[in-house]
Amino acid sequence: FASLATDTTINVYDPRSEEEQNLQHFLILDLDRALRTGGIHLAYQPKICLRDNRVIAYEALIRWNHPDYGLIRPDQWIPFAEQVGAIHGVTLWAIERAVQDLPRLEQKAGRPVMVAVNISARDLARSDFHSEAQAILSRYGVTPNNVMLEITETAVMRNADQARQMLEKLSRAGFRIALDDFGTGYSSLSALASFSLDELKIDRSFLTDIPTDAIRQRIFHTAVELGEALDLRIVVEGVETAAVADWLQRYPGLCGQGYYWGRPEPLSIL
Ligand code: C2E
Ligand code: MG
Ligand code: MG
Ligand code: MG
Repeated sequence: FASLATDTTINVYDPRSEEEQNLQHFLILDLDRALRTGGIHLAYQPKICLRDNRVIAYEALIRWNHPDYGLIRPDQWIPFAEQVGAIHGVTLWAIERAVQDLPRLEQKAGRPVMVAVNISARDLARSDFHSEAQAILSRYGVTPNNVMLEITETAVMRNADQARQMLEKLSRAGFRIALDDFGTGYSSLSALASFSLDELKIDRSFLTDIPTDAIRQRIFHTAVELGEALDLRIVVEGVETAAVADWLQRYPGLCGQGYYWGRPEPLSIL
């Protein structure tokens, strides 16, 4: 699938200009303060069941509104925070905030939902991450099976043995695990089968031209079959238009996410 993920670039050199790198250094100095004082918040985007259009979960997506630099997209600073070892505090903060927000998310949905939090490869490298995460949940009386942890295929494959062990521990603790951006990494079928997964999120690059391009339809179908063979819930990412949502109706068992059903929004305006 990797060759079809055309919007993914792999840079073998550091593409950041000196200016960008300086900006990222300033940002990281501000990180703790921003987490404490509300400069950083979570936006929530629904995951929808195609069969009945019901919300089954909300994914927490981090947003940084910086007093000097304005709105900074996660892609502009999360990779750097990972690089300098500052991501773990962000992850624990996001888990705590998401779990705090869960009752109000359920109110919005009018039914029980899960909350999904994105985690990074660095988190999986910490031998006690599962205990730390569980401790946060206990403080709010939330059980781990209400919490989905999303990790990208690329992050998992970076150190597959380490990832396998931590995902196993998280899974035993009751957390649900989603493999994010599936199809942009290079995992083999046997590697996929060896991870404790509950959900496969098919990357949005698979949807390019999907209502009209027969080859892409067959490739998409193969990804779906793979998820089904592994008995995973399948979420199609990046559904933007009615045309794509309609085309997907031939797979009523799938779930979807994208601007078509809802953009990521802060809880206050969900
Ligand atoms: P992701 O987890 O795969 O999240 C999906 C991204 O696609 C989000 O971008 C979302 O806003 C965007 N999106 C959703 N629906 C659509 C659509 O219909 N069309 C298009 N074109 N885009 C859509 P965002 O919020 O900029 O986040 C980018 C990535 O940053 C996320 O990808 C995730 O990997 C990472 N990220 C976000 N929040 C966190 C966090 O709290 N912790 C960590 N470690 N990573 C995070
Ligand atoms: Mg995600
Ligand atoms: Mg994704
Ligand atoms: Mg992504």
